[in-house]
Amino acid sequence: MPDSNGQYRGRFAPSPTGPLHLGSLIAALASYLDAHHCNGKWLVRMEDLDPPREETGAADSILYSLQCHGLRWDDNILYQSARSSAYAAALETLSDRGDLFPCDCTRATLGANGACQGSCRTPQASLSGPAAIRIRIPYAQEILFVDRLQGPEHTLLGQSLQDFVIKRKDTLYAYQLAVTVDDAAQGITHIVRGSDLLDSTPRQVFLQQRLGYSTPRYCHLPVITTGQGQKFSKQNHAPALDNSMARSNLLRALRFLRQCEPPATLESVEQLLMHAIEHWSLEQVPAVPSIPAANIGLSV
Ligand code: GLU
Repeated sequence: MPDSNGQYRGRFAPSPTGPLHLGSLIAALASYLDAHHCNGKWLVRMEDLDPPREETGAADSILYSLQCHGLRWDDNILYQSARSSAYAAALETLSDRGDLFPCDCTRATLGANGACQGSCRTPQASLSGPAAIRIRIPYAQEILFVDRLQGPEHTLLGQSLQDFVIKRKDTLYAYQLAVTVDDAAQGITHIVRGSDLLDSTPRQVFLQQRLGYSTPRYCHLPVITTGQGQKFSKQNHAPALDNSMARSNLLRALRFLRQCEPPATLESVEQLLMHAIEHWSLEQVPAVPSIPAANIGLSV
């Protein structure tokens, strides 16, 4: 789906919680190849929205790794830490529509997945302390989108999910709001990312509808999982990529994505990426949510 100028705009949006690892390289590479195969632009957005979860130096280390792997971005990097006024404006729009309410429930009284089980949804005379801001989801709200890889996704959002937080009690804006506002602000037409974010997408589509934004095309890639079925991530000791092994890291990521093997004569990462762009085929990527690390010869 091209934007109003007819151009594909994709993005990679890492959170700087640790260095780039094979799992995040796969998302970066697939979004890069898909964008370039469609003669589009590929942007990088640094999702440095949640300082308590971030690691010092991780943002620069991720950007350095992307460069070492030949993944050059178009346009300036957008840092979410500098976007508070855009998030505040979106919050005001939602508030003017009567979509928001404060919730001062404490951890002890919240239900499963942080659901508000109190009476916050009905206007309160006074709050007992700091409050999160939640968005009301009408009970009958459904969200339907067709994922380019995983197929049709239909969610009974109002039944399956409680009103979710868009500004946290600690005053930080929530990921769901920030990502929706920034995808729209950057004119993103195509989102290629890991399937661990598949359950966030209906919330983002809901916010797009409430804010009058268009919905990009989504493509959720399989993620690598450990023997215990957990996502390959920093928390699960995914090792940082060795930047001096960029070519073999890229080959590994291409194999994971079942792309055609570039000839050994293509020695530089630039040549390898050019070949991969030309031969990129989403049809080859396994249409499954996850692939165990052992299946691709990794031990975790
Ligand atoms: N920053 C998110 C993460 O690293 C990804 C956001 C996205 O691609 O929408 O998990």
